[in-house]
Amino acid sequence: MTRTGDDARRTVGSRRIATFGETVFATYSRLARETDAIDLGQGFPDFDPPSLVIEALRDSVDGYQQYPPLPGWPALLEALAADKGGRLGRPLDPTGNLLVTVGATEALFSAMQAFIDPGDEVVLIEPFYDAYPADVIMAGGVPRFVPLEPQQDGRWLLDIDRLRSAFGKRTRMIVVNSPHNPSGKVFSADELDAIIELAEEFDALILADQVYEHISYVPFVDLLSRPGAWERAIAISSFGKTFSVTGWKIGWACGPAPLIATLRTAHQWVPFTVAMPLQEAAARVIRQAAGGSYYRELESAYRRRRDLLLAALAGTPFWALRPEGGYFIVADTEELDYADDVALCLDLPARAGVSAIPPSAFYSPGHRDLARNLVRFAFCKKDEAILEAGERLARLAQ
Ligand code: PMP
Ligand code: GLN
Repeated sequence: MTRTGDDARRTVGSRRIATFGETVFATYSRLARETDAIDLGQGFPDFDPPSLVIEALRDSVDGYQQYPPLPGWPALLEALAADKGGRLGRPLDPTGNLLVTVGATEALFSAMQAFIDPGDEVVLIEPFYDAYPADVIMAGGVPRFVPLEPQQDGRWLLDIDRLRSAFGKRTRMIVVNSPHNPSGKVFSADELDAIIELAEEFDALILADQVYEHISYVPFVDLLSRPGAWERAIAISSFGKTFSVTGWKIGWACGPAPLIATLRTAHQWVPFTVAMPLQEAAARVIRQAAGGSYYRELESAYRRRRDLLLAALAGTPFWALRPEGGYFIVADTEELDYADDVALCLDLPARAGVSAIPPSAFYSPGHRDLARNLVRFAFCKKDEAILEAGERLARLAQ
């Protein structure tokens, strides 16, 4: 006997995910492929990673096939402890202060699962990387949003009084992303100190998403290096961003041992461990990169690409805000006649042969209007792609 209504019941998602649509990265990457547009949308390099990364991967094929230990492969943890500890000026215990994760994405998800109870509030700075509110909601938490304010000079201002008004008795955590996606803002030491003070006052945790820590055109300030941060902060980074292999999905979290232990408790039920050959390869790469010139070269290569895209956009109807870090440029498009950024980005691949991301995806429903005239371009792309995209976009002005 068939029971009516069961099909619908079987396929409907949980209440936790009922409000989720498809992530913009899936939508706009598909659109770019379908229209054969130059893809300045999703942030992944279209060029080869450094040869040391591919060589390390080849050398990590034999003998690295089984589950590594839960906290991460010791060789990788030790390489990270030496590299990160050296930069922080703080000795790090490889298994106590670090956890290897499936990209920064898993670290974010597991952190929310580990620390957020139903009804707990998490302060998110808008625009935000789109996984944050989803992760908060999947943990039963409630996001509280505070918008950055773009200025005439291209900087994005964080109004500390406005930030303070988002904190309250239920605040459990604030997420700070620096260098920031999509704005390219790099938070100053003063801004980070003000955030840490608020976190202290409200006894909140700080989750510092620093996946672009090595791609900064102004001095990058690691939140963990600021006074008062170490007791209450976890920093997250991504091998994929730093070594141009986003498909590897290797990330890590760093922080004080009690917080990392709690994070590990959630992580053990999410992936348990992370791909073994990739961890061994990442260890070899980080050992070579640390202390050498790799990070400096990465920064100057991206600085050059940023300047190339800024110059390429100069002759187009897109007024670019100059990023201080990361590999995205947000531009204002007031001259073009579209209802909003989504309408523009849906039409741009067919009309101009260039794909971009609508920044309203990085705003809460109540604040999407702030992104109505904005568009995000990625410059982690080959020079030819950036230059050709600039020429195509310039034709829109004619
Ligand atoms: N945080 C930010 C700000 C990002 O831009 C990204 C981009 N992928 C991630 C986290 C996720 O990083 P991963 O690919 O290592 O999961
Ligand atoms: N971080 C990348 C971006 O912002 C993409 C990440 C993803 O595909 N989820 O474009």
